[in-house]
Amino acid sequence: MSAPRYQASGRAFAQIVRFHPEISALRRDLHAHPELGFEEVYTSARVHESLKACGVDEIHTGIGKTGVVAVIRGRSTASGRMIGLRADMDALPMHEDNDFAWRSAKSGLMHGCGHDGHTAMLVGAARYLAETRNFDGTAVLIFQPGEEGFAGARVMIEDGLFERFPVDSVYAFHNWPAMAPGTVGLNPGPMMAAADRITIEVAGKGGHGAHAYLTVDPVVVSAHLITAIQTIVSRNVRPIDAAVISVCAMQAGDLNAMAVVPGRATLVGTVRTFSAKVQAEVERRLVELCSAVASGFGATATVRFERIYPATINTPAEALFAGDVAQALVGARNIERNMEPSMGAEDFSFMLQKKPGAYLRLGQGGKDGAFLHNSRYDFNDDILPLGAALHAGLIEQGMPLADRASERPMENAKAQAPRLHASSAAH
Ligand SMILES: [Zn+2]
Ligand SMILES: [Zn+2]
Repeated sequence: MSAPRYQASGRAFAQIVRFHPEISALRRDLHAHPELGFEEVYTSARVHESLKACGVDEIHTGIGKTGVVAVIRGRSTASGRMIGLRADMDALPMHEDNDFAWRSAKSGLMHGCGHDGHTAMLVGAARYLAETRNFDGTAVLIFQPGEEGFAGARVMIEDGLFERFPVDSVYAFHNWPAMAPGTVGLNPGPMMAAADRITIEVAGKGGHGAHAYLTVDPVVVSAHLITAIQTIVSRNVRPIDAAVISVCAMQAGDLNAMAVVPGRATLVGTVRTFSAKVQAEVERRLVELCSAVASGFGATATVRFERIYPATINTPAEALFAGDVAQALVGARNIERNMEPSMGAEDFSFMLQKKPGAYLRLGQGGKDGAFLHNSRYDFNDDILPLGAALHAGLIEQGMPLADRASERPMENAKAQAPRLHASSAAH
């Protein structure tokens, strides 16, 4: 394996690079065996077996169905501190168009989001941390199922994750094809939006398309609803707040029936917001507006608003600390500390609702412009040692041994953290 084509420094990185080929082999094996949320049986078994070979202190399986948690104690645990690191393990229900040797061996399933790489990076960190143990506290490595729409993080939490492993803080990364390998991005507030699903049922009165005056046409009502809904963002949400409402699917009538006015129509879409206040306002206005517009036409419209994933919001002190750890690894030039949030969503948000922590993006570059969820996407194995070293740095620098008390970035970070109020952090 050729040396990574980016700059990174530090003892952990130098040591992890030595077993880069093994981490890459694991990553490619996981890529070839993609599994959907809560079906990560092969993946969990591979993780389990790798963790055992690493010599971690404890391995717990079956948390959140297919989730795995490894515990590694430092040379000392006198600090009583505990830090969590999380990697997601699941793949997507999509066809892979790559033709390399490690392409998906399962038709209709693909690691199109790089969770194979996330899993391998955390296994790499486990190996280094179990070998070196240069920290004072306990590292908790969380291998999570079902990130892609299954809320695996929430299921692990409901299964007692944080009661069994009461971490002080928790960190996770996502590879990012739009950023170059060797770069890291984060910010001290919202990183990803809340993702909600809306379903609008419009009920009218069906009849003959030639005698439409005798009907209450739900198609016409839906057309008005689709345009009226857009005024919620432009006329109800403050311009300095962010919100998106997209109606992405509509079903009414039958394509073979040109002259049958249907009795019902269904609209499905998504709402994206960063603050709970804006989210609640959008929901309230959707219900009011749909009901009033429909009633103006003699129809009814009911809105089902389902909260799928909350917003992923970093806590300022932990984001500053994680930024410092990343900076020590890749240098100040290669880190963006005020990264723009994405309107995408991520279920690590459930962990950040319970614990302080940070979610980071790791640049990985995009092969032929193949971004996440593209059928030609692949995780860039070059960044495996970087991600593993970043995980290791969070543990070593977050829980330093007493003889390294002078290098305590976490305490420094706490002292320097900007005092953001929840409201200002949530924009
Ligand atoms: Zn994804
Ligand atoms: Zn993902």
